[in-house]
Amino acid sequence: MGKEALLALVNNAALLITFVVLYTVFYVKSTTSRQIPRQIISGFLLGMVTVGVMLNSWQLSPGVVFDTRSVALGLIGLFFGFIPSMISASMAVGLRILMGGEGTIPGISTILSSVSVGLIWQHHKRRDSCDRSLLELYLFGIVVHVFMLLCMLLLPSQSRETFFEIAALPVMIVYPAATMIVGWAMTGQIARKRGEAAESELASTSERLAVIVKNSPVAIISLDLDYKVTSWNEAAEEIFGWKCSEVLGKPLPYILETQKEDYERMNVETLKGLPVRGERFAQRTKDGREIIIKVYNAPIRDENGNLEGIFGILEDVTEQHKAELALKESELRFRKLYMNMNIGVAIYRVINEGDDVVFLDMNPSGCRITGVNREEILGRSVKAIFPSVVELGLYQRLIEVWKTSRPMHHPVRRYKDERIDFWADNYIYPDRSHEVVAIFEDVTQRELMLEELERRVKNRTEELEAANKELESFAYSVSHDLRAPLRAINGFSKIISDRYMSSLPEEGQRYLGFISKAGGDMSDLIDGLLEYSRIGRSSIHLNELPLKSIVDDCIATLNRRIEEEGAEVSIITDLPTVYANQSLLKRAVTNLLQNALTYHNVGSRPIVKISSKHHKGWVFLTIEDNGIGIEDRYHERIFNVFQRLHTDEEFPGTGIGLSIVKKSVLLMGGDVSLESIPGKGSKFTLKIKGV
Ligand code: ADP
Repeated sequence: MGKEALLALVNNAALLITFVVLYTVFYVKSTTSRQIPRQIISGFLLGMVTVGVMLNSWQLSPGVVFDTRSVALGLIGLFFGFIPSMISASMAVGLRILMGGEGTIPGISTILSSVSVGLIWQHHKRRDSCDRSLLELYLFGIVVHVFMLLCMLLLPSQSRETFFEIAALPVMIVYPAATMIVGWAMTGQIARKRGEAAESELASTSERLAVIVKNSPVAIISLDLDYKVTSWNEAAEEIFGWKCSEVLGKPLPYILETQKEDYERMNVETLKGLPVRGERFAQRTKDGREIIIKVYNAPIRDENGNLEGIFGILEDVTEQHKAELALKESELRFRKLYMNMNIGVAIYRVINEGDDVVFLDMNPSGCRITGVNREEILGRSVKAIFPSVVELGLYQRLIEVWKTSRPMHHPVRRYKDERIDFWADNYIYPDRSHEVVAIFEDVTQRELMLEELERRVKNRTEELEAANKELESFAYSVSHDLRAPLRAINGFSKIISDRYMSSLPEEGQRYLGFISKAGGDMSDLIDGLLEYSRIGRSSIHLNELPLKSIVDDCIATLNRRIEEEGAEVSIITDLPTVYANQSLLKRAVTNLLQNALTYHNVGSRPIVKISSKHHKGWVFLTIEDNGIGIEDRYHERIFNVFQRLHTDEEFPGTGIGLSIVKKSVLLMGGDVSLESIPGKGSKFTLKIKGV
C-alpha cells in the first residue's frame, strides 16, 4: 500500500470516529421525543461523513477506488436504523455514480450490501445496542466484508485480479477489526451514559428517600448492631418527645425495664431475617404518657449483604387501640344482649336470587319461641324447617324486605276454636346484602289478655249502657210522675196566696213564699230532668241545616232576656251549612247563649260573639262571652248533671244546661270544648259535622 493510500485510510479512520460523536449526540444523549426529524438530520450528517470517507479514497487501479464505506455503512445500518441508513446510502450511491469508472457497479453494490447487512443484523438481533460484545462486532465486520468481496467479483477481470491480489487480504484483516473498534466505541458510549443515569438516579432516589423519611407521619428510626440509635426522624421526635440529638448514638430511650427482654428477642429475630410486622407495644413517652406503638422492623444490609443494623417504622396507634378495645367491648355487650334477651332474633340469607331463604343464625330466645335447635337449622331452608312459613305470609315478607330494603312488621297468628293459640310479632329489616333480620316476640299471653280485656270492656259497656238507659227511664218516669203532685202543690199555694194571703200572719206569709219558690224551682228542675232524659229517647236523624238560621232562631227566642240584660249578641263570621239534628242543635246553642247572658259580672253588660270555622270536614261554632269565666279545674265537671259552681242566690239555675249541651252534640257525633280566663270570659265551642 502506497503512502497516499495509507493517508487516505487514516483519514477514513478519523471520519469513522465522528460516528461515535454523532451516535452520542443523536442517540445516546438526545432527549427529544421527536424521532423522525432526528433521524432525518442524523441521516444527512452520516451521509456527509460517508461521502467524506468516499472522497478520501485511494486508487487500486485506474477506475477502481477504495475506501472504508463498507465499514461506515455497515455501522450505520447496525446502529442508526432505517431512515438514516437510507439517506446516507442514497447520498453514497449518488456520489459513487458521479465518480464513475469501471468500479461503479461493484462500488454501489458494496454500499447497498453493507447497509443491508447492518439493517438485517440489527433487525434479526433485535436487542439493546449496549449488549453487543466485541466478538459479535468482529463477526459482523467479517460478514459485511465477505459481502463486499463478493461485490468485487463484479469488477472487470483485470481490476478484479488486482484487487484480490493486493487488497483482499488486508481488507479482511483491517476492515472487520475497524468495524469492531468503532462499534465498540459506540456501545461504550451507551454504557457510560447508562452508568451516569443510574448514578444520578441513585443520588436523586437517596435525596427523595431522605425527604420522605424526614416528613413521614410515622416514626422511622434505625439502630446499629449494638442497638444504638443511628437515625431518628421528626415524627419520632413528635411521638416520643425526645429530640434526635438526645438519642443519637444511645440505646432506645423509650424501652421500659419490663420490656427489655421482649425488645431484645425482637431485635435478634429481626437480625436473623424474621422481620417484625405490626407487633404492638405499650410505651412511655418522655413526658410519661402511655402510648401504644405498632412496630415494623427489618434488618439493614450493606451492598454485600452484610448486616448493618435494624430499620424500624413505628406508628402511634393509641387512639386506634382504644377504639378497637371499645368496639370489642361493645361487640361483647351486644353479643351478651343477643344471647340473653327475651326476644327472638333470626338472621336469614336470601339465596338463588330470592328463590330460597336459609337460616344464618338464631338466638337462644328465638330457638325457645320457635322450638328449634340452633345447630339443626343453620344453613337450612326456612321452608324446610317451618313449612307453614309461606301460609303465614312470613316468607313473602322476608323476600319483600330483601327486595325493597324497607323494614316491615308482620304478626304471625294462629287460632284454635276461635281463640288465639299463638301470636308472634315479627319486625323484619334488611341487613347486609342478601341478609334479612327478624326480631320476634311471643306475645300470645299478652294478646290473650288483651282479648279478654276487650271482651270485658264490651260486656261492661253494654251493662253500663243498659243501666244508664234504665236510670234515664227511671228519671223520666219519676220526673213525669212528680209533675202532677207538684202541679197540685204549686196550684194550691197560688190559690192560698191569691185568696188568703192577707189573712195570714206575717210568718205564714213568709212560709207560703218559701213554698211557692221551692215549688217553682222544683218545677224547673223536673222540666230540666225531663228534657235531659228525653234527649235521645227517640231516634236521631241528621240533616243539612243552615247554621245561620238556627242561630238566628235561638237568638230570637232569647230576645226578651237580651233586652232585660242590655246584652249585645252578634254573629261575627259567616255560618255555614252543617249536618245536624235541628232540635238537638237548637237546644245546645240556646243553653250556651242563656249561660253567656247569665254568668256576667254584676254591673257589666254581656257581650256575646258568635263565630265559626271550618276544618277537615268539621264546623266549629264558638260562643264567646265577657262573663265571669270558669277556672280550669272545673272545665270537665260542669258538663255533668247538677254540677253548679254558684249558689242560687248568686246565679239561679239547675245545673242541667251544659249536660244537655254535651249530650246533644255527642248524639250528633260531635263534641263540646271550653276555653276560659276567669274574670275575663268563656269560649264554648261546638264541634258539628260539616257538609
Ligand atoms: P246552670 O246554668 O243551670 O247552673 P249549667 O249546666 O248550664 O247549669 O252550668 C253549670 C255551671 O257552669 C254553672 O252553674 C256555672 O257556674 C258554669 N257556667 C256555665 N256557663 C258559664 C259561662 N258562660 N260563664 C261562666 N260560668 C258558666
